[in-house]
Amino acid sequence: MSAPRIGVLALQGAFREHIRSLRRCGADAVEIRTREDLDGLSGLVLPGGESTVMGKLLTEWDMMDRLRGLIRDGLPVFGTCAGLILLCTDIIGHPGQPRIGLLDASVRRNAFGRQVDSFTTDLELSPFPAVRPLEDRPAPMRAVFIRAPLIERTGTGVEVLARVNGLPVAVRQRNILAVSFHPELTADLRLHQWVVDMAEAG
Ligand code: GLN
Repeated sequence: MSAPRIGVLALQGAFREHIRSLRRCGADAVEIRTREDLDGLSGLVLPGGESTVMGKLLTEWDMMDRLRGLIRDGLPVFGTCAGLILLCTDIIGHPGQPRIGLLDASVRRNAFGRQVDSFTTDLELSPFPAVRPLEDRPAPMRAVFIRAPLIERTGTGVEVLARVNGLPVAVRQRNILAVSFHPELTADLRLHQWVVDMAEAG
């Protein structure tokens, strides 16, 4: 079987680190910069960065509707930080911000405040709903938060995989996995492996 082709949105933000993590998982990882680049993908990663800039460029470059259609049709997608924000239906206080809007959740941007712009913590991860057999007791995941968003509401179809202070920081809804931290900055490949496994399962 050939390596699944996974796109990483590369308009802005932390895309290079995701490419590296996906390649370590055995994927054919490619940078996505145009509407045409979205053709022929088996999976997609939306990186951290600045969600307002990414949303604006996606709209200006005529990629937003195509992206939304692919995800709605079941393309496995993994969003981190700003990528999570783009996926949510509701961005609290920013009703006009362009977004993909398919993850049934309300998110607050920069929710940890300026005093704690960034921090690292070990997360307890729920038995992970990967395509491969579940780990009974997953090892904690070291998570780096950088001006992170916080999920304040999740819809009924959204499974919470990890929390900080009782609030969700990792969620899944069918083919959408989204986290408010930066797994591309650590050596733990379990979340990237999910999107690669989902892509391979087709
Ligand atoms: N604060 C950024 C935003 O609102 C997200 C930060 C990040 O992706 N590290 O888009």
